[in-house]
Amino acid sequence: MSKATVAIVGRPNVGKSTIFNRMVGERLAIVEDKPGVTRDRLYGQGEWLNRTFNVIDTGGIDIGEEPLIDQMRMQAEIAIEEADSIIFIVNGREGITPQDEEVAMILKRSKKPVVVGVNKVDNPDMQDLIYDFYEFGFGQPFPISGSHGIGIGDMLDEVFANFPVHLEDAEEESLIKIAVIGRPNVGKSSLVNAILGEERVITSNIAGTTRDAIDTNFTREGQDYKIVDTAGMRKRGKVYENTEKYSVLRAMRALERANVVLVVLDGEEGVIEQDKKIAGYAHESGRAVVIVVNKWDAVEKDDRTMKAYTENIRETFSYLSYAPIVFVSATKNQRIHKLLPVVNEVMDSHQMRMPTHVINDVIMDAVSRNPAPTAGGIKRLRINYATQVAIGPPTFVVFVNDPDLMHFSYRRYLENQLREAFSFVGTPLKIIARKKNES
Ligand code: GDP
Ligand code: GDP
Repeated sequence: MSKATVAIVGRPNVGKSTIFNRMVGERLAIVEDKPGVTRDRLYGQGEWLNRTFNVIDTGGIDIGEEPLIDQMRMQAEIAIEEADSIIFIVNGREGITPQDEEVAMILKRSKKPVVVGVNKVDNPDMQDLIYDFYEFGFGQPFPISGSHGIGIGDMLDEVFANFPVHLEDAEEESLIKIAVIGRPNVGKSSLVNAILGEERVITSNIAGTTRDAIDTNFTREGQDYKIVDTAGMRKRGKVYENTEKYSVLRAMRALERANVVLVVLDGEEGVIEQDKKIAGYAHESGRAVVIVVNKWDAVEKDDRTMKAYTENIRETFSYLSYAPIVFVSATKNQRIHKLLPVVNEVMDSHQMRMPTHVINDVIMDAVSRNPAPTAGGIKRLRINYATQVAIGPPTFVVFVNDPDLMHFSYRRYLENQLREAFSFVGTPLKIIARKKNES
Protein backbone atom coordinates (compact mmCIF):
# COMPACT_ATOMS: atom_id res chain seq x y z
CA MET A 1 0.00 0.00 0.00
CA SER A 2 1.48 3.34 -0.89
CA LYS A 3 1.33 6.06 1.68
CA ALA A 4 -0.88 9.11 1.46
CA THR A 5 0.72 12.54 1.44
CA VAL A 6 -1.05 15.40 3.15
CA ALA A 7 0.09 19.01 2.78
CA ILE A 8 -0.57 21.81 5.24
CA VAL A 9 -1.23 25.15 3.56
CA GLY A 10 -2.13 28.62 4.76
CA ARG A 11 -0.87 32.14 5.22
CA PRO A 12 1.86 32.86 7.78
CA ASN A 13 1.17 32.63 11.52
CA VAL A 14 -2.04 30.66 11.37
CA GLY A 15 -0.29 27.75 13.10
CA LYS A 16 0.86 25.45 10.32
CA SER A 17 4.14 24.40 11.85
CA THR A 18 2.50 23.93 15.26
CA ILE A 19 0.01 21.56 13.67
CA PHE A 20 2.72 19.86 11.62
CA ASN A 21 4.68 19.17 14.80
CA ARG A 22 1.57 17.73 16.43
CA MET A 23 1.01 15.42 13.50
CA VAL A 24 4.53 14.10 13.19
CA GLY A 25 4.96 14.04 16.97
CA GLU A 26 7.90 12.08 18.15
CA ARG A 27 8.48 10.48 14.86
CA LEU A 28 10.72 13.41 13.98
CA ALA A 29 13.93 12.19 12.52
CA ILE A 30 17.19 12.22 14.38
CA VAL A 31 19.83 12.87 11.76
CA GLU A 32 21.26 16.33 11.30
CA ASP A 33 18.82 18.27 13.37
CA LYS A 34 20.84 21.23 14.47
CA PRO A 35 19.53 23.37 17.28
CA GLY A 36 18.94 26.96 16.34
CA VAL A 37 17.75 26.13 12.89
CA THR A 38 14.07 26.72 13.19
CA ARG A 39 11.63 24.97 11.02
CA ASP A 40 14.16 22.76 9.45
CA ARG A 41 11.70 20.00 8.97
CA LEU A 42 9.07 20.33 6.37
CA TYR A 43 8.46 16.69 5.79
CA GLY A 44 7.54 14.05 8.29
CA GLN A 45 5.49 11.01 8.99
CA GLY A 46 2.23 11.09 10.86
CA GLU A 47 0.09 8.34 12.23
CA TRP A 48 -3.64 8.24 12.70
CA LEU A 49 -5.72 5.17 13.40
CA ASN A 50 -3.13 2.65 12.30
CA ARG A 51 -2.46 4.57 9.17
CA THR A 52 0.86 6.22 8.51
CA PHE A 53 1.01 9.11 6.12
CA ASN A 54 3.44 11.76 4.97
CA VAL A 55 2.96 15.35 6.01
CA ILE A 56 4.38 18.41 4.26
CA ASP A 57 4.53 21.76 6.03
CA THR A 58 4.46 24.05 3.02
CA GLY A 59 5.07 27.04 5.28
CA GLY A 60 8.59 25.70 5.64
CA ILE A 61 9.30 26.19 1.98
CA ASP A 62 10.77 29.65 1.82
CA ILE A 63 11.11 30.86 -1.66
CA GLY A 64 13.83 33.46 -1.77
CA GLU A 65 12.99 37.10 -1.78
CA GLU A 66 9.62 36.78 -3.43
CA PRO A 67 6.84 38.94 -2.04
CA LEU A 68 4.75 37.17 0.56
CA ILE A 69 1.77 36.76 -1.66
CA ASP A 70 3.84 35.00 -4.32
CA GLN A 71 5.40 32.76 -1.71
CA MET A 72 1.97 31.72 -0.53
CA ARG A 73 0.88 31.05 -4.07
CA MET A 74 3.91 28.87 -4.72
CA GLN A 75 3.47 26.99 -1.47
CA ALA A 76 -0.12 26.25 -2.42
CA GLU A 77 0.97 25.12 -5.86
CA ILE A 78 3.59 22.84 -4.41
CA ALA A 79 1.01 21.36 -2.09
CA ILE A 80 -1.30 20.71 -4.99
CA GLU A 81 1.47 19.10 -6.97
CA GLU A 82 2.95 16.96 -4.22
CA ALA A 83 0.06 15.97 -2.02
CA ASP A 84 -2.93 13.70 -2.33
CA SER A 85 -4.90 15.79 0.06
CA ILE A 86 -4.64 19.31 1.47
CA ILE A 87 -5.29 20.74 4.90
CA PHE A 88 -6.00 24.44 4.62
CA ILE A 89 -5.31 26.18 7.92
CA VAL A 90 -6.89 29.51 8.85
CA ASN A 91 -6.92 31.53 12.04
CA GLY A 92 -10.39 31.34 13.58
CA ARG A 93 -9.79 34.40 15.70
CA GLU A 94 -9.07 36.65 12.75
CA GLY A 95 -11.78 35.53 10.33
CA ILE A 96 -11.21 35.39 6.59
CA THR A 97 -8.45 37.67 5.33
CA PRO A 98 -7.66 38.59 1.71
CA GLN A 99 -4.60 36.32 1.93
CA ASP A 100 -6.81 33.40 2.94
CA GLU A 101 -9.01 34.12 -0.04
CA GLU A 102 -6.03 34.12 -2.34
CA VAL A 103 -4.91 30.70 -1.11
CA ALA A 104 -8.46 29.36 -1.26
CA MET A 105 -8.76 30.42 -4.88
CA ILE A 106 -5.65 28.50 -5.90
CA LEU A 107 -6.75 25.41 -4.00
CA LYS A 108 -10.19 25.59 -5.54
CA ARG A 109 -8.73 25.43 -9.04
CA SER A 110 -6.98 22.16 -8.26
CA LYS A 111 -8.90 18.94 -8.10
CA LYS A 112 -7.31 17.91 -4.84
CA PRO A 113 -9.52 17.35 -1.82
CA VAL A 114 -9.27 20.19 0.70
CA VAL A 115 -10.21 20.13 4.38
CA VAL A 116 -10.32 23.44 6.26
CA GLY A 117 -8.83 23.52 9.75
CA VAL A 118 -9.91 26.56 11.75
CA ASN A 119 -7.05 26.93 14.18
CA LYS A 120 -6.68 28.70 17.51
CA VAL A 121 -10.10 27.51 18.64
CA ASP A 122 -8.63 26.75 22.02
CA ASN A 123 -11.82 26.10 23.95
CA PRO A 124 -15.33 24.82 23.25
CA ASP A 125 -17.08 28.18 23.60
CA MET A 126 -15.14 29.42 20.58
CA GLN A 127 -16.64 26.81 18.24
CA ASP A 128 -18.85 29.38 16.53
CA LEU A 129 -15.75 30.81 14.91
CA ILE A 130 -15.85 28.12 12.25
CA TYR A 131 -19.04 29.30 10.54
CA ASP A 132 -17.47 32.10 8.50
CA PHE A 133 -15.25 29.58 6.81
CA TYR A 134 -18.06 27.66 5.14
CA GLU A 135 -17.82 30.47 2.62
CA PHE A 136 -14.76 28.87 0.96
CA GLY A 137 -16.94 26.04 -0.28
CA PHE A 138 -14.65 23.26 0.94
CA GLY A 139 -17.35 21.75 3.11
CA GLN A 140 -17.46 21.62 6.86
CA PRO A 141 -14.61 23.51 8.54
CA PHE A 142 -13.04 21.78 11.55
CA PRO A 143 -12.36 23.65 14.79
CA ILE A 144 -8.87 22.82 16.00
CA SER A 145 -6.20 24.03 18.35
CA GLY A 146 -2.67 23.25 17.31
CA SER A 147 -1.15 24.42 20.54
CA HIS A 148 -3.60 22.46 22.70
CA GLY A 149 -3.83 19.47 20.39
CA ILE A 150 -7.62 19.65 20.11
CA GLY A 151 -9.74 18.56 17.14
CA ILE A 152 -6.89 17.35 14.98
CA GLY A 153 -8.10 13.76 15.04
CA ASP A 154 -11.56 14.68 13.80
CA MET A 155 -9.99 16.71 11.02
CA LEU A 156 -7.78 13.77 10.02
CA ASP A 157 -10.82 11.49 10.00
CA GLU A 158 -12.28 13.77 7.38
CA VAL A 159 -9.01 13.89 5.41
CA PHE A 160 -8.92 10.11 5.19
CA ALA A 161 -12.68 9.59 4.84
CA ASN A 162 -12.64 9.88 1.08
CA PHE A 163 -9.17 8.69 0.62
CA PRO A 164 -8.56 6.15 -2.11
CA VAL A 165 -6.43 3.27 -1.01
CA HIS A 166 -3.71 2.61 -3.57
CA LEU A 167 -2.46 -0.90 -3.96
CA GLU A 168 1.00 -1.54 -5.27
CA ASP A 169 1.08 -3.68 -8.36
CA ALA A 170 1.96 -7.17 -7.28
CA GLU A 171 3.85 -7.92 -10.47
CA GLU A 172 6.27 -5.10 -9.74
CA GLU A 173 8.08 -7.24 -7.18
CA SER A 174 11.04 -7.99 -9.41
CA LEU A 175 11.30 -4.40 -10.56
CA ILE A 176 14.14 -2.31 -9.13
CA LYS A 177 12.94 1.21 -8.46
CA ILE A 178 15.75 3.74 -8.42
CA ALA A 179 15.57 7.28 -7.07
CA VAL A 180 18.32 9.67 -8.11
CA ILE A 181 18.55 12.39 -5.51
CA GLY A 182 20.85 15.28 -4.70
CA ARG A 183 20.89 19.02 -4.56
CA PRO A 184 20.44 21.04 -7.75
CA ASN A 185 23.24 20.90 -10.32
CA VAL A 186 25.13 17.90 -9.03
CA GLY A 187 24.27 16.24 -12.33
CA LYS A 188 21.21 14.11 -11.59
CA SER A 189 19.59 14.49 -14.98
CA SER A 190 22.92 14.05 -16.76
CA LEU A 191 23.38 10.86 -14.78
CA VAL A 192 19.95 9.56 -15.65
CA ASN A 193 20.61 10.24 -19.29
CA ALA A 194 23.94 8.48 -19.08
CA ILE A 195 22.41 5.44 -17.40
CA LEU A 196 19.66 5.25 -19.95
CA GLY A 197 22.07 5.83 -22.82
CA GLU A 198 20.87 4.16 -25.99
CA GLU A 199 18.00 2.70 -24.06
CA ARG A 200 16.44 6.11 -23.98
CA VAL A 201 14.64 5.55 -27.23
CA ILE A 202 12.73 2.57 -25.93
CA THR A 203 11.83 4.02 -22.59
CA SER A 204 8.27 4.82 -21.82
CA ASN A 205 7.27 7.88 -19.93
CA ILE A 206 4.31 7.01 -17.88
CA ALA A 207 2.58 10.12 -16.79
CA GLY A 208 1.61 8.76 -13.46
CA THR A 209 -1.04 8.70 -10.90
CA THR A 210 -2.23 11.51 -8.78
CA ARG A 211 1.15 13.11 -8.40
CA ASP A 212 1.93 13.46 -12.06
CA ALA A 213 5.23 11.77 -11.49
CA ILE A 214 7.30 10.94 -14.52
CA ASP A 215 8.89 7.54 -14.25
CA THR A 216 11.14 5.93 -16.78
CA ASN A 217 11.15 2.17 -17.26
CA PHE A 218 13.97 0.29 -18.89
CA THR A 219 15.45 -3.18 -19.04
CA ARG A 220 19.10 -4.12 -18.87
CA GLU A 221 20.38 -7.67 -19.12
CA GLY A 222 17.01 -9.11 -18.30
CA GLN A 223 16.46 -6.96 -15.23
CA ASP A 224 13.64 -4.41 -15.19
CA TYR A 225 14.30 -1.01 -13.67
CA LYS A 226 12.33 2.09 -13.09
CA ILE A 227 13.89 5.49 -12.50
CA VAL A 228 11.49 7.24 -10.21
CA ASP A 229 10.27 10.79 -10.57
CA THR A 230 13.60 12.42 -11.18
CA ALA A 231 13.85 16.10 -10.46
CA GLY A 232 16.23 16.72 -13.30
CA MET A 233 13.83 15.29 -15.81
CA ARG A 234 11.13 17.71 -15.04
CA LYS A 235 12.72 21.10 -15.33
CA ARG A 236 9.81 23.27 -16.13
CA GLY A 237 11.26 26.59 -15.26
CA LYS A 238 9.20 27.04 -12.16
CA VAL A 239 10.77 29.47 -9.74
CA TYR A 240 10.78 27.04 -6.87
CA GLU A 241 12.19 24.04 -8.72
CA ASN A 242 15.72 24.89 -7.72
CA THR A 243 15.22 26.16 -4.22
CA GLU A 244 16.90 24.17 -1.52
CA LYS A 245 13.85 23.16 0.46
CA TYR A 246 11.95 22.17 -2.62
CA SER A 247 14.72 19.96 -3.85
CA VAL A 248 14.82 18.22 -0.49
CA LEU A 249 11.09 17.71 -0.70
CA ARG A 250 11.42 16.36 -4.19
CA ALA A 251 14.09 13.96 -3.03
CA MET A 252 11.87 12.74 -0.22
CA ARG A 253 8.99 12.11 -2.56
CA ALA A 254 11.19 10.20 -4.96
CA LEU A 255 12.75 7.96 -2.39
CA GLU A 256 9.36 7.12 -0.91
CA ARG A 257 8.65 5.19 -4.06
CA ALA A 258 12.06 3.67 -4.63
CA ASN A 259 13.95 0.75 -3.20
CA VAL A 260 17.41 1.87 -4.25
CA VAL A 261 18.57 5.45 -3.82
CA LEU A 262 21.49 7.02 -5.65
CA VAL A 263 22.71 9.94 -3.57
CA VAL A 264 24.57 12.11 -6.06
CA LEU A 265 27.41 14.37 -4.93
CA ASP A 266 29.36 16.89 -6.96
CA GLY A 267 32.97 15.70 -6.94
CA GLU A 268 34.15 19.02 -8.24
CA GLU A 269 32.42 21.21 -5.66
CA GLY A 270 32.65 18.82 -2.76
CA VAL A 271 30.17 18.23 0.01
CA ILE A 272 28.04 21.03 1.40
CA GLU A 273 25.46 21.14 4.18
CA GLN A 274 22.56 20.42 1.87
CA ASP A 275 24.15 17.18 0.70
CA LYS A 276 24.27 16.01 4.30
CA LYS A 277 20.62 16.71 4.81
CA ILE A 278 19.62 14.82 1.68
CA ALA A 279 21.87 11.88 2.55
CA GLY A 280 20.37 11.86 6.05
CA TYR A 281 16.91 11.48 4.61
CA ALA A 282 18.12 8.69 2.35
CA HIS A 283 19.49 6.82 5.34
CA GLU A 284 16.36 7.31 7.42
CA SER A 285 14.15 6.07 4.63
CA GLY A 286 15.47 2.55 5.08
CA ARG A 287 16.16 2.21 1.37
CA ALA A 288 19.30 0.71 -0.11
CA VAL A 289 21.79 3.50 -0.78
CA VAL A 290 24.62 4.03 -3.25
CA ILE A 291 26.72 7.18 -3.04
CA VAL A 292 27.60 8.48 -6.49
CA VAL A 293 30.39 11.02 -6.79
CA ASN A 294 29.77 12.70 -10.12
CA LYS A 295 31.89 15.11 -12.23
CA TRP A 296 34.97 13.06 -11.38
CA ASP A 297 36.38 14.11 -14.76
CA ALA A 298 36.60 17.70 -13.55
CA VAL A 299 38.59 16.84 -10.45
CA GLU A 300 42.33 17.32 -10.53
CA LYS A 301 43.68 14.10 -9.20
CA ASP A 302 46.65 11.92 -8.49
CA ASP A 303 46.79 8.37 -7.22
CA ARG A 304 45.69 9.36 -3.73
CA THR A 305 42.72 11.55 -4.59
CA MET A 306 40.10 8.86 -4.67
CA LYS A 307 41.20 7.40 -1.39
CA ALA A 308 41.24 10.79 0.30
CA TYR A 309 37.83 11.56 -1.11
CA THR A 310 36.47 8.25 0.09
CA GLU A 311 37.76 8.84 3.59
CA ASN A 312 36.20 12.26 3.64
CA ILE A 313 32.83 10.85 2.60
CA ARG A 314 33.02 8.09 5.19
CA GLU A 315 33.67 10.66 7.86
CA THR A 316 31.00 13.10 6.74
CA PHE A 317 28.33 10.49 6.18
CA SER A 318 29.26 8.11 8.97
CA TYR A 319 25.67 6.84 9.25
CA LEU A 320 25.91 5.65 5.63
CA SER A 321 28.93 3.47 6.24
CA TYR A 322 27.13 0.60 4.49
CA ALA A 323 26.69 2.48 1.21
CA PRO A 324 29.11 1.70 -1.61
CA ILE A 325 30.71 4.71 -3.29
CA VAL A 326 31.02 4.93 -7.07
CA PHE A 327 33.00 7.66 -8.82
CA VAL A 328 31.61 8.58 -12.22
CA SER A 329 31.39 11.21 -14.86
CA ALA A 330 27.93 11.49 -16.32
CA THR A 331 28.82 13.79 -19.17
CA LYS A 332 32.03 11.95 -20.11
CA ASN A 333 30.29 8.61 -19.60
CA GLN A 334 33.02 7.31 -17.31
CA ARG A 335 32.33 4.26 -15.11
CA ILE A 336 28.59 4.62 -15.66
CA HIS A 337 28.52 0.93 -16.60
CA LYS A 338 29.57 0.10 -13.03
CA LEU A 339 26.45 1.61 -11.55
CA LEU A 340 23.74 -0.90 -12.39
CA PRO A 341 25.74 -3.91 -11.15
CA VAL A 342 26.14 -2.08 -7.84
CA VAL A 343 22.43 -1.26 -7.85
CA ASN A 344 21.65 -4.95 -8.36
CA GLU A 345 23.95 -5.90 -5.53
CA VAL A 346 22.48 -3.49 -2.98
CA MET A 347 18.98 -4.49 -4.06
CA ASP A 348 19.85 -8.13 -3.38
CA SER A 349 21.03 -7.22 0.09
CA HIS A 350 17.99 -5.08 0.72
CA GLN A 351 15.68 -7.96 -0.17
CA MET A 352 17.73 -10.73 1.41
CA ARG A 353 15.89 -13.16 3.63
CA MET A 354 17.80 -15.69 5.68
CA PRO A 355 16.37 -18.80 7.34
CA THR A 356 15.71 -18.32 11.02
CA HIS A 357 18.11 -20.98 12.22
CA VAL A 358 20.95 -19.32 10.33
CA ILE A 359 20.20 -15.91 11.83
CA ASN A 360 19.88 -17.48 15.21
CA ASP A 361 23.23 -19.24 14.87
CA VAL A 362 25.01 -16.03 13.93
CA ILE A 363 23.49 -14.03 16.77
CA MET A 364 23.97 -16.69 19.43
CA ASP A 365 27.52 -17.22 18.28
CA ALA A 366 28.17 -13.49 18.47
CA VAL A 367 26.72 -13.42 21.98
CA SER A 368 28.83 -16.27 23.24
CA ARG A 369 32.00 -14.71 21.86
CA ASN A 370 31.18 -11.32 23.30
CA PRO A 371 28.43 -11.29 25.91
CA ALA A 372 26.62 -8.05 26.60
CA PRO A 373 28.19 -6.10 29.46
CA THR A 374 26.21 -5.92 32.67
CA ALA A 375 24.41 -2.66 33.21
CA GLY A 376 25.65 -1.14 36.45
CA GLY A 377 26.93 -4.52 37.50
CA ILE A 378 23.46 -5.80 38.28
CA LYS A 379 21.54 -7.07 35.34
CA ARG A 380 22.89 -8.57 32.16
CA LEU A 381 21.18 -8.57 28.80
CA ARG A 382 20.27 -12.09 27.84
CA ILE A 383 19.37 -12.98 24.30
CA ASN A 384 17.21 -16.03 23.81
CA TYR A 385 16.41 -16.06 20.22
CA ALA A 386 16.74 -14.05 17.00
CA THR A 387 14.79 -14.09 13.79
CA GLN A 388 14.37 -12.05 10.63
CA VAL A 389 10.91 -10.52 10.41
CA ALA A 390 11.08 -8.38 7.27
CA ILE A 391 13.03 -7.43 4.18
CA GLY A 392 13.55 -4.07 2.49
CA PRO A 393 15.50 -3.36 4.71
CA PRO A 394 16.29 -6.64 6.46
CA THR A 395 14.76 -6.37 9.91
CA PHE A 396 15.57 -8.64 12.82
CA VAL A 397 13.90 -9.20 16.14
CA VAL A 398 15.98 -10.42 19.05
CA PHE A 399 14.07 -11.70 22.03
CA VAL A 400 15.71 -10.62 25.27
CA ASN A 401 15.09 -10.60 28.98
CA ASP A 402 14.80 -6.79 29.06
CA PRO A 403 14.85 -4.60 25.93
CA ASP A 404 16.13 -1.61 27.95
CA LEU A 405 19.39 -3.45 28.48
CA MET A 406 20.12 -3.49 24.76
CA HIS A 407 22.46 -0.57 24.38
CA PHE A 408 23.44 1.25 21.24
CA SER A 409 26.94 -0.16 21.12
CA TYR A 410 25.80 -3.73 21.58
CA ARG A 411 23.13 -3.33 18.94
CA ARG A 412 25.84 -2.09 16.59
CA TYR A 413 28.00 -5.04 17.47
CA LEU A 414 25.20 -7.44 16.53
CA GLU A 415 24.54 -5.51 13.35
CA ASN A 416 28.18 -5.76 12.35
CA GLN A 417 28.15 -9.49 13.00
CA LEU A 418 25.13 -9.91 10.73
CA ARG A 419 26.76 -7.76 8.06
CA GLU A 420 29.90 -9.83 8.13
CA ALA A 421 28.11 -13.15 8.13
CA PHE A 422 25.87 -12.39 5.20
CA SER A 423 27.81 -9.69 3.31
CA PHE A 424 25.01 -7.17 3.34
CA VAL A 425 25.97 -4.32 1.02
CA GLY A 426 24.32 -0.95 0.72
CA THR A 427 21.39 -1.63 2.96
CA PRO A 428 20.62 -0.48 6.47
CA LEU A 429 19.73 -3.27 8.89
CA LYS A 430 17.15 -2.90 11.61
CA ILE A 431 17.44 -4.71 14.89
CA ILE A 432 14.51 -4.65 17.27
CA ALA A 433 14.86 -5.88 20.83
CA ARG A 434 11.70 -7.41 22.21
CA LYS A 435 10.90 -8.88 25.57
CA LYS A 436 10.72 -12.62 25.48
CA ASN A 437 7.22 -13.83 26.05
CA GLU A 438 7.23 -15.14 29.59
CA SER A 439 4.51 -17.73 29.11
P1 GDP B 1 2.75 29.15 10.78
O1 GDP B 1 3.49 30.36 10.38
O2 GDP B 1 1.43 29.07 10.09
O3 GDP B 1 3.51 27.90 10.69
O4 GDP B 1 2.35 29.35 12.34
P2 GDP B 1 3.09 28.81 13.65
O5 GDP B 1 2.82 27.38 13.85
O6 GDP B 1 4.49 29.28 13.66
O7 GDP B 1 2.23 29.59 14.74
C1 GDP B 1 2.14 31.02 14.78
C2 GDP B 1 1.79 31.46 16.16
O8 GDP B 1 0.50 31.01 16.53
C3 GDP B 1 2.72 30.91 17.22
O9 GDP B 1 2.97 31.92 18.16
C4 GDP B 1 1.95 29.78 17.84
O10 GDP B 1 2.30 29.55 19.17
C5 GDP B 1 0.53 30.29 17.74
N1 GDP B 1 -0.45 29.18 17.68
C6 GDP B 1 -0.38 28.07 16.90
N2 GDP B 1 -1.44 27.27 17.10
C7 GDP B 1 -2.21 27.90 18.04
C8 GDP B 1 -3.44 27.56 18.68
O11 GDP B 1 -4.08 26.53 18.45
N3 GDP B 1 -3.93 28.45 19.59
C9 GDP B 1 -3.28 29.62 19.89
N4 GDP B 1 -3.82 30.41 20.80
N5 GDP B 1 -2.11 29.96 19.32
C10 GDP B 1 -1.58 29.11 18.40
P1 GDP C 1 20.83 18.32 -11.86
O1 GDP C 1 20.29 19.68 -11.52
O2 GDP C 1 21.34 17.63 -10.64
O3 GDP C 1 19.89 17.48 -12.66
O4 GDP C 1 22.14 18.58 -12.75
P2 GDP C 1 22.34 18.55 -14.34
O5 GDP C 1 22.35 17.17 -14.85
O6 GDP C 1 21.38 19.51 -14.95
O7 GDP C 1 23.83 19.10 -14.45
C1 GDP C 1 24.21 20.35 -13.92
C2 GDP C 1 25.45 20.85 -14.63
O8 GDP C 1 26.57 19.99 -14.33
C3 GDP C 1 25.31 20.85 -16.14
O9 GDP C 1 25.95 22.00 -16.62
C4 GDP C 1 26.04 19.60 -16.57
O10 GDP C 1 26.58 19.70 -17.86
C5 GDP C 1 27.15 19.50 -15.53
N1 GDP C 1 27.58 18.12 -15.34
C6 GDP C 1 26.77 17.05 -15.08
N2 GDP C 1 27.49 15.94 -14.98
C7 GDP C 1 28.78 16.28 -15.16
C8 GDP C 1 30.03 15.54 -15.19
O11 GDP C 1 30.07 14.32 -15.01
N3 GDP C 1 31.15 16.25 -15.39
C9 GDP C 1 31.15 17.59 -15.59
N4 GDP C 1 32.31 18.20 -15.77
N5 GDP C 1 30.01 18.32 -15.59
C10 GDP C 1 28.84 17.68 -15.38
